[in-house]
Amino acid sequence: MPIIAITCERFEEGRVEGAPVAYAAAVAAAGGTPVLLPVQDMERLHPLIEHIHGLLLPGGYDLDPLFFGQEPRPGLGRVTPERDAFELALVQIFTSLGRPILGICRGLQLLAVARGGSLHQDIASERRGALKHRQEAPRWWGSHGVRLVPGTRLAAILGVEALRVNSFHHQAVEEPLPAPLVVGARAPDGVVEAFEDPSHPFFLAVQWHPEEMAERDPWSRRLFEAFVAACDAICQR
Ligand code: MN
Repeated sequence: MPIIAITCERFEEGRVEGAPVAYAAAVAAAGGTPVLLPVQDMERLHPLIEHIHGLLLPGGYDLDPLFFGQEPRPGLGRVTPERDAFELALVQIFTSLGRPILGICRGLQLLAVARGGSLHQDIASERRGALKHRQEAPRWWGSHGVRLVPGTRLAAILGVEALRVNSFHHQAVEEPLPAPLVVGARAPDGVVEAFEDPSHPFFLAVQWHPEEMAERDPWSRRLFEAFVAACDAICQR
């Protein structure tokens, strides 16, 4: 079974803040073995990396704009710069190894920044006509639509043209995306809700939270199954 690392905060006082339980459950349900990777010294991790088949970057706090060359604006929320640096370093390693990477919410934003992209620090104050992307509906509820871009890996995995997704973000990637990234899905207000790197075996990011929808939503399960299958291909080598 493929081993899939899910990043999380640093261990502090015997607990992990915001432990990514729903992500681990969704990975396990799709046939992967989830392991948590808290923020720590990269040196310690090097012997472990070759045994990890895929990397899942989950949700979390805002990215520090330092990492995409901006100064903080008033709409910026709480940032966790140590985690930013840790995850950016992991992405470089997994990208160069050609191992599957799935980014979710903050994970999507981190993957864009890892490739040299930048973010809207706050959608509502930086984009005119934006939808409500911080839903107050139940977490599993698809509160806004997305339209998938035909011909993308995401469209092939999901097998539909449009989808309802949940939404718990106030930041978004700024366009244009750095090459060779391509947009995989867009909300009706134009916000990028997914992108991918077609030149990589599996490098995909979604702005919504499929792990919160997976119990009720077959498309969310398909996304995890496709990711775990890509990790399994590495595991079988
Ligand atoms: Mn959204």
